[in-house]
Amino acid sequence: MELLKERIRRDGIVKPGNVLKVDSFLNHQMDIDLINEIGKEFRRRFPSDKITKILTIEASGIGIACIAAQYFHVPVVFAKKAQSINIDGDVYHTKVQSFTHQKVYDVILSRKFLGPDDHVLIIDDFLANGCALMGLIDIIKKAGASIEGAGIVIEKGFQQGGQMIREQGIHLESLAVITAMTDTEIQLED
Ligand code: 5GP
Repeated sequence: MELLKERIRRDGIVKPGNVLKVDSFLNHQMDIDLINEIGKEFRRRFPSDKITKILTIEASGIGIACIAAQYFHVPVVFAKKAQSINIDGDVYHTKVQSFTHQKVYDVILSRKFLGPDDHVLIIDDFLANGCALMGLIDIIKKAGASIEGAGIVIEKGFQQGGQMIREQGIHLESLAVITAMTDTEIQLED
């Protein structure tokens, strides 16, 4: 997606630890016109009318998923990072290792909002080592729902997540794939 790639080249900032900051347009301040185009592009890449729900994880996936959902006409449900380990039976529960915060989160989703009849499209802002996606996939499996695919805004192709997800046969679409980054340069796949 050329518009997105141009924006990453222009406004992306590389931080130590292989972290790309895109907080001026994607996950802190949000450029809604750009995210609207991202939503349309996800719809183009996932045209299936079987999708019943979009699943994301708090916090930064939520805004993107909501804008995209307007093109799918399905609800968005987001996995929550649990504050207490007091997890009751009404929720699906998994654990996610956070790439940016270097800690393990308990992640929950109410059983009310995902079940065996659902066909789920996952949407998230970044794919790095794949832990967030693996956690969401685990929740979908626990719910007995079907995975229609995963739409990612920015995949860091030099980390292992993309390969791991594709090897599971999951339809993964990343709108921009970073092949390498240094302090001064961000290289993107054509
Ligand atoms: P993963 O679980 O695939 O290792 O990392 C994905 C999650 O970590 C995303 O939900 C995203 O919030 C965060 N993340 C991973 N890499 C980056 C990065 O380079 N920049 C930012 N801003 N967030 C990242």
